[in-house]
Amino acid sequence: FGGTSLADPDRIRHVTSLLDAREPPLAVVVSAMSGVTDRLLGLAERAPSSENDLDEHLQALRDDQRAVVTNLLDGEAAASVLRTLDADVDDLADVLRATRLMGTAPNTTRELVAGYGELWSARVLGSVLRARGLSVAVCDAREVLVVTHEDLGPVVDWEATRERFAKWRADHADADVIVATGFIAATPDGVPTTLGRNGSDHSAAIFASLLGAESLTIWTDTDGVMSADPQYVPDARRLDSISYEEAMEMAYFGASVIHPRTLAPAVEHEIPITIRNTFAPERPGTRIHLDGDGASVVKGFSTIDDVALLNLEGSGMIGVPGIARRLFDALEDEGVSVILISQGSSEHSICFAVPQAQATVAREA
Ligand code: ASP
Ligand code: MG
Repeated sequence: FGGTSLADPDRIRHVTSLLDAREPPLAVVVSAMSGVTDRLLGLAERAPSSENDLDEHLQALRDDQRAVVTNLLDGEAAASVLRTLDADVDDLADVLRATRLMGTAPNTTRELVAGYGELWSARVLGSVLRARGLSVAVCDAREVLVVTHEDLGPVVDWEATRERFAKWRADHADADVIVATGFIAATPDGVPTTLGRNGSDHSAAIFASLLGAESLTIWTDTDGVMSADPQYVPDARRLDSISYEEAMEMAYFGASVIHPRTLAPAVEHEIPITIRNTFAPERPGTRIHLDGDGASVVKGFSTIDDVALLNLEGSGMIGVPGIARRLFDALEDEGVSVILISQGSSEHSICFAVPQAQATVAREA
């Protein structure tokens, strides 16, 4: 469930009703309530230079979270979630104070601070489900999910992760429902980290793989994967069913409903994925699985913004072997990633697209 699906107590209630319709065993991966990650990151960013208003922002965040807890829970269930929340906020205040003294917010600090929203969502939803009589275990993904950060983004250390998850699972063997935090993880040294902004879908795919899930449903705020970006194409329509490969293509080329690296762990295990709209659960969403539907060859169009086109041309290129290699070697030396390549049949020009941010470097190369 993404952040908008959990944005306020009513929506969290709605989520529990969606879960009621499912047969356990069930694992639920949650994002922070919408806006919470931004607020947390704002605290970390302002901490080094701020005077005194930080505490105020932190207290406001705490009050908002407290209001959610007391709206949804009562008695000892509420009290216990509130105690942990207060302890977290105390920790956060310490971290922010240390950041102010140091005068800088290193990445490790930002990663730690950014992840609290998911912990709060998971604890609240876990307690709400428990209050409804389910046997629930809340999983802090930092205890099980081990990732390293590479050029292309976070990479899961599957061996370590599977080992830790097996241990965690054994300790919580009697739970019918697992509520796990999205977005957060730990480095091999146990330092808290994240999977990057909007990483909760990725977490969901990782948990699906760890559990050998029958299916993965990504509950979000859109109807599914669209045939084009409705901002540009008014008659874009929802796709019923697409293959993993098609979904990957769409994701890499800008269909923002799926995080580009989200699918891989589920795809490897051939777990069918459905993208559903939390606010319109009667709609079927888009199913992503091995085959898609063969009905039409062209499934959709996608676009990427902020792209630069460069053209290398000259009569000296015609029929000369090795020009393309030299061109792309030169780009590789500068670490430029090429999005699209086309060569005129005359071999008089090679046109290629690169991210706008790398245009100048590419031209110089
Ligand atoms: N809460 C995180 C973010 O805002 C992760 C997510 O929403 O998927 O980026
Ligand atoms: Mg989100």
